[in-house]
Amino acid sequence: MAQTWLTPGPTPVPAAVLEAQGRHPVFHRGRAFQLLLSEVTEGLQWLLETSNEVLLYTASGTGALEAAIVNCFAPGERIVVCVNGFFGERVVTIATRAGLVVERLDYRWGEAVRADDVAACLARTPDARGVVLQHSETSTSVVNDLAAIAPVVTAAPSAPLLMVDAVSAAGALPIGTDRLALDLVVGASQKALGATPGVSFVAVGARAWARHGELPPAPYYWDFSEYRRWARPGTPESPYTPAISVIEGLAAALRGLREQGLDAVFALHRLNAAAVKAGVAALGLEPFGENIDAGVVVTAVRAPPGVDPSALAAHLETRYGVVVAAGQGPLSADVLRVGHLGSVSAADVVAGIAALEAALADFGGPQPTGAGVAAVVQTYRKAGSWPGR
Ligand SMILES: *Cc1c(COP(=O)(O)O)cnc(C)c1O
Repeated sequence: MAQTWLTPGPTPVPAAVLEAQGRHPVFHRGRAFQLLLSEVTEGLQWLLETSNEVLLYTASGTGALEAAIVNCFAPGERIVVCVNGFFGERVVTIATRAGLVVERLDYRWGEAVRADDVAACLARTPDARGVVLQHSETSTSVVNDLAAIAPVVTAAPSAPLLMVDAVSAAGALPIGTDRLALDLVVGASQKALGATPGVSFVAVGARAWARHGELPPAPYYWDFSEYRRWARPGTPESPYTPAISVIEGLAAALRGLREQGLDAVFALHRLNAAAVKAGVAALGLEPFGENIDAGVVVTAVRAPPGVDPSALAAHLETRYGVVVAAGQGPLSADVLRVGHLGSVSAADVVAGIAALEAALADFGGPQPTGAGVAAVVQTYRKAGSWPGR
């Protein structure tokens, strides 16, 4: 049985979240659910820094990505999709399947999306109706510089909608939805928020609502209009039976985050990331990807020569109870990913790096010296902080 979760999601789930969702579900047409949904919606608005409406779906993050696409773009319309990893590629598939014409802005996996490339792409694609990118491309650990890219999209004469996949970023990084004028922001319960899987959400801005209003009705289950009709302020409900228990857990997770405050939550992610990065560096592992220091969600490293990352990850779990992830797609043979999003504690990072050092020795690496753990402990001590859960 695994004990330490350093995954890119689902992430460690705090006890308060598990307790909240272990109770009998409330009736979703009663007052208790209305209060619950009000609380969660307000909590998500706080987290995403927005006054936009936030719609909740009983679906994983991919469902909410598809919802945003099919509600705000019509078949035959062109959108720019930035692709610097697995999840960018998934958005291309969703959009193509929905009949959109996708203009890809491609990068090698591990590279970051650059604002000037987005500007150039929009200049040669004057009919683009939207731009989609990942804030944190979880497959490679690369964080794209949203604050630099958003103004470029806003300034484009064709006024494309800006849609951000913040599935792994929401709760780990400042999103600044209103500040950056993000039209569609997508997130999910099981990543940095630290709840369990099953609920995802879209924050929908005024321009996105206007676009939605011009289009023919969206596919039935995803239709924004239906969710909005039921989301009456003060007495919101969900059009269909929602994942009530997961929403109870999400409410508890958001309560926990609000008690800490946004700045503390982001600082925790920076600190845990720094500790993991110090630990893997001390083990001699080569970091993967651009903007390493900005990668506060996941750390990707190259596996040592001759070591298969999937086999290493499987061994870490079965032998040491530590769950990490191998790379995805073309990186599956090269890269190991250590997640540090959500309620990760110092104890998790210590255990994870200790196990990684032992596992590398099991795969023929040098005998453990504790160098990884020493670097982790020094990072937390220097910061004067020892995060718990
Ligand atoms: C996890 C993830 C997704 C997919 O979310 P699911 O909940 O697994 O459907 C999409 N985008 C990013 C950036 C992710 O990290």
